[in-house]
Amino acid sequence: MFDVLIVGAGMVGASLACALGDKNCTSDRNLKVGIIEVNGNFLRGEFTADGRASAIAYGSSQIWQNIGVWGGMQRRGVTPMYTIQVSEGDLPYQVQLRCEDMGQAALGYIVENSVTLASLWEFARECQNLELICPAKILDIEYVRDRDVMRVKISSEIGEQYLETKLLVGADGGRSLVRQLANIAIDQHLYEQTCIVTTIQSEKPHQNFAYERFQASGPFAILPLGSDRACIVWTATTDETPHLLALEESTFLQELAKRFGQPLMERLGNIKVISRERASYVPRWMHSQTYIQSRLALIGDAAHTTHPIAGQGMNLGIRDVNALANVLKAAHQNHEDLGAIAVLKRYEAKRKWDNLGVIWLTDISNRLFSNHNWFFKVLRRFGLLLLQISPLKRVLMYFMMGLHQV
Ligand SMILES: Cc1cc2nc3c(=O)[nH]c(=O)nc-3n(C[C@H](O)[C@H](O)[C@H](O)COP(=O)(O)OP(=O)(O)OC[C@H]3O[C@@H](n4cnc5c(N)ncnc54)[C@H](O)[C@@H]3O)c2cc1C
Repeated sequence: MFDVLIVGAGMVGASLACALGDKNCTSDRNLKVGIIEVNGNFLRGEFTADGRASAIAYGSSQIWQNIGVWGGMQRRGVTPMYTIQVSEGDLPYQVQLRCEDMGQAALGYIVENSVTLASLWEFARECQNLELICPAKILDIEYVRDRDVMRVKISSEIGEQYLETKLLVGADGGRSLVRQLANIAIDQHLYEQTCIVTTIQSEKPHQNFAYERFQASGPFAILPLGSDRACIVWTATTDETPHLLALEESTFLQELAKRFGQPLMERLGNIKVISRERASYVPRWMHSQTYIQSRLALIGDAAHTTHPIAGQGMNLGIRDVNALANVLKAAHQNHEDLGAIAVLKRYEAKRKWDNLGVIWLTDISNRLFSNHNWFFKVLRRFGLLLLQISPLKRVLMYFMMGLHQV
């Protein structure tokens, strides 16, 4: 019988496993934790996938630091962001968010997802109270009322089997099967946009600047990586996407240069695409009507997703991990039942409003900045001007850096 069984060892599920692991915390030694992952490549240490990188808020780096995995990420390579420049179309003024305004060494970090996963899996393998069940996938879940346990049917290389746990955690991503099997309803909205992701290398140093450029088709983000590389997240309309994905490399580069704008192209010099392919994702916001049931909790994308423009999806997931791990550890020390609704309610109460707030704000920003109406154009330019006012800028940066949850 597991105390906690996690489904999904992506960045969020693996973070929870590490947070409950006994490598750095011997009091967790008698907590029996399991984690089920369908992707067998992870077991072989292959995390390359689509070459995506994520903006990690300063607060999330602190959570990983406390768990003990941040050192592994730094060793593999994280790129600090010193300045984030926000601009709209070809408007000559921009807002610059600088780390020195907040008295921090960095606003956050850009970390390749492969670096995060490799570091988490390395740490997880060193925890003795943690069982990695991979490759394996869940097929069904059943709450066994008379014994008050959650029974999970899985399929792995040794065939089908049943596992039992006091608490099942769904960390199996936006299309979560755990959520569906538990009949948890969701609210959602699909955007008529596609995010195209590619990696470039520039001739001149990027000086650890990140750029968020709001354009008519949607936002365009440039995230700095080591060796003067940058991850591009280009939000295009659904109509223009097939054309952009099919472009020859030289024409694609020309289109890219247009989106960068002349001043930035002069600063970066020649650019070349270095990723093997252009990955594409259809963004949507989604929020589960509840994160908990008896003996079940949802975290990360299984509970909520948001448009990638603000670079917040995983940061919210890491804050879920922090909240759930703290609630479970405290309950364990007080000899409480980890799967009891009373315990899980503490987790949901800590996380719901932060998640909803970020989802709504991101949605409003995307709608506001993608709207062609003159009224909204005036409104967003006024908004950018307002952000030049120092106290307002600091409030925005405080939340963006995740400092309210550290
Ligand atoms: C283009 C793009 C850019 C983004 N940029 C950022 C950013 O800059 N900053 C940021 O904070 N967020 C960003 N995000 C969001 C971020 O990537 C996600 O929020 C994050 O990856 C969610 O992690 P997760 O572990 O919850 O889910 P996932 O990464 O989806 O992991 C789920 C895991 O569960 C496994 N699984 C699924 N089903 C089963 C099953 N039945 N049995 C067993 N295992 C299963 C999967 O194999 C997978 O490993 C971006 C998203 C996109 C699309």
